[in-house]
Amino acid sequence: MQTESSNLLNPLELLKNSGIPKHLLYQSRIEVDHLICPICLNILWKPIACGQDKCFQSFCEVCINKWIQDQAGDEVLQESLYSQSLIIAPDSGSGSQYSSQSSSFSEMPQQIQIETTLPNCPKCKRQFKKTSIPIIHNLLDSIQLSCIYEECPTKPGYEQFQKHILQCPFRRINCSGCGLQQLQNELEQHENQCEQVIIECPKCCNKMSRKLFSLHSIDDCVQQQFNNKDNRIAQLNKKIEELNQKNQQLEQKICKMLKGDSFDTIHQFSFKTMFTQNYQFTGTQAVEAKLIRPSFNLQKQKNDFLHFYINHKVKTQAIQGLIWRMRIQTLKGNLLIGICSTLCHYSIDFIINKLGELKRKEWNENKYKLLRKGNFTFSEGDTLTFQFMPLQQCLRITNENRHIVCRFEPTEIIEMGDSFFSFFSLENQGDSIIFI
Ligand SMILES: [Zn+2]
Ligand SMILES: [Zn+2]
Ligand SMILES: [Zn+2]
Ligand SMILES: [Zn+2]
Ligand SMILES: [Zn+2]
Repeated sequence: MQTESSNLLNPLELLKNSGIPKHLLYQSRIEVDHLICPICLNILWKPIACGQDKCFQSFCEVCINKWIQDQAGDEVLQESLYSQSLIIAPDSGSGSQYSSQSSSFSEMPQQIQIETTLPNCPKCKRQFKKTSIPIIHNLLDSIQLSCIYEECPTKPGYEQFQKHILQCPFRRINCSGCGLQQLQNELEQHENQCEQVIIECPKCCNKMSRKLFSLHSIDDCVQQQFNNKDNRIAQLNKKIEELNQKNQQLEQKICKMLKGDSFDTIHQFSFKTMFTQNYQFTGTQAVEAKLIRPSFNLQKQKNDFLHFYINHKVKTQAIQGLIWRMRIQTLKGNLLIGICSTLCHYSIDFIINKLGELKRKEWNENKYKLLRKGNFTFSEGDTLTFQFMPLQQCLRITNENRHIVCRFEPTEIIEMGDSFFSFFSLENQGDSIIFI
């Protein structure tokens, strides 16, 4: 290939796989035979020499590297063939013979390893140790070369050769539009005029040839801008769709986590908790739930919902709603109560405590806002009755002689959907309530 007409040489490919073609030597005051690579037979390019005494043969960097690689590859192949031949050795009749052979194999690898890791010099066949010989570099620096483009009068030195052929004004580069070869220093001017070069409309960002751009009307451009926007909207809608799906999956996952394991059922009620082990349940007739260790919910809020399940069906409930009772056994901290949709995407949370405070949780926040104070108190041993009345949109809580009404917004019941459950939560370790 290198011997073909010089104007077929590609400056980007030349020197990639071998040295400088010999016919490009223009002038040399010295015998050039010392400067020839024995592998590619061209003028040395970036020479590297064998460091063995009395060899010092130089090779092109690419040539010797390729040789080393090929030789290493061959030896890996030879080695694997060799070890295979040991395994299928013909007279391995008994197990003891086989093991004696494998022990002889274990004595040999040292030699093989040396050959594998340090390939031999192509000339002297001894280990190849890379070295650099300054005199070779000096000699190379003294030669003068011809440019690969015949018309070019420049005779670059060895050092400037590569740079020159890349920057030579006679270098031809294909126009990105029409594909015709242009002189390097005329390419820009040509491409600025060539009708087939692709350009981008600065307004609609559509790419087209310069010829089509001259026919690109304002109507076309505006139409294209609309199309672009439509495409963008479609892309965004698709993304929203994907995010919604992801969101739904995550909600379901959270819901599953929040619901926890079902571990007991009394009457029509069943209890579940996120961290079952935080509560201790005792009793057969009535269930006592006692918080036995402090716990944290997903928002790092100190608490753990004891889900008290009654799957309320709004549409099928009588006007009184659903009633359940609990006796306060020990209560030093707050008592959280609430209603949560089955999908856990919406909940109405209240706090009641012995100070007679009624607080309501702000939507999407971990803050409780005081609704009223003082007129509803209870103490340990008291029974509280909860009456959830979906038609009146409220939760009515009764102590021994008074009641309070926790109202919901009408939209909240709608937000809950058809199916939801009640939950209780104790806050203070050691507190306990009895469901009766
Ligand atoms: Zn070479
Ligand atoms: Zn050598
Ligand atoms: Zn040139
Ligand atoms: Zn062109
Ligand atoms: Zn346009």
